[in-house]
Formats: sequence, C-alpha cells, structure tokens
Amino acid sequence: MKNKIYTIAIIALLLGLTSCTHQHKLVKTVVIDVGHGGKDTGTKVENIAHSESTLLLEIAKAMLIINGLDKDRDLKIVLTRYGDDYLSLRTRIQQINYINPDLAMSLHIGFDKDKTKNGVDAYYSPKNIHNQQSQQMAKKLLDCVAVQKLQKGSVQQPAKLSVIRRVKVPATTMILGYLSNQSDREYLSTQKGRDQLAKQIYHCLKIM
Ligand SMILES: [Zn+2]
Repeated sequence: MKNKIYTIAIIALLLGLTSCTHQHKLVKTVVIDVGHGGKDTGTKVENIAHSESTLLLEIAKAMLIINGLDKDRDLKIVLTRYGDDYLSLRTRIQQINYINPDLAMSLHIGFDKDKTKNGVDAYYSPKNIHNQQSQQMAKKLLDCVAVQKLQKGSVQQPAKLSVIRRVKVPATTMILGYLSNQSDREYLSTQKGRDQLAKQIYHCLKIM
C-alpha cells in the first residue's frame, strides 16, 4: 500500500512537472506597444475621423478580442495601453522589460510627403541586444502581414531613439500603412479593414 501511494505521488509529481514545462514552452507572450496616445495623437489627417493613436488602439484591441476567443491558448497578447493614455518612451520600455515577452511589437501608421508611398514596413534596431532575432522576426512579420490589401514594403533600421532599441527582448516596429496614401487611408478608415489587419497580424504572430 505504501509503495502504491509512493508510486502515485511520483507519477503525479512528474505529470505536474511536464505540464509546467509544457505550458512554459508553448505559450508565447507578445507585448503590443500601441503607438502614441493621449496628448500624443500621432498622425492626424483631415478626411479621416480617427488619429493614428486611436486607429492603432482599435487594431490592438481587436487583436486582444481574437486572443480571448483563441482556444489554442498558445499566444498571450499584452498591450502597453488599453485606453487613450499618454505613455512616455521610458514607461513603455519599463513595462516591456518587466513583462519580459518573447517579442515586443510597436505599432505605428506612417505618413510621408510622397503620397505614393504605401504598405507595411518593419523596423529592427541593430543596437537591440537581440538584434539578429529581431531582424529575423521583422522579416517574417513583414512577409506575413503584407498579404492583405496593404502592400509589402521593406525591413529598415530606425533613424532615431526608439522603444525597440532599448528593450531587453527581441523587438520590431511595424508600420501598418500610410495615412498619406489614399488606398491605405481608405483601408484603415474602415472597421472591416482594421479587423482584417488585426486578424492577419495575430495569425502571423501565432505561426512565427
Ligand atoms: Zn506613429
């Protein structure tokens, strides 16, 4: 009897251990750094009701809803902001380092004086301590995200100080279209377009 209890205890312990490591390895955490917010509206154009900051929040929140409905439970999405709040660069970096995700993805929408410039661009910082992994992830995400109405742009390096340079995890910035481009602007100004984009980014993060 004593032996039987002992064996059961060992099996239970082993099962517990395997399920722990299992869970740890399978659940990928991604922090979505939702650009701008509050007093910092980002890009704002007259013929679209939303600013860059609210468009990004809507896309990020749509991703959160998809995450909540996802029965696989293999991806956990965390946002740096859940409302129209202003966050400093420092706060964003601290938040991301504290959560310590597998990937930090900053989301922005571009604006360019060249109105033909459009589509999705991805950035990585060579100064990020995981720069090689960040570059690979930026490439993969660019290939994957840009299959919808937004065309594929290029992988670039940021010109100025940014979140993705200073966080201690692999990081990329995605430019989700250009508000200065008519076709991108029309796509982003509809809920259908934003939801489609959110769904695609989520899918890309899952298969990455
Ligand atoms: Zn921006």
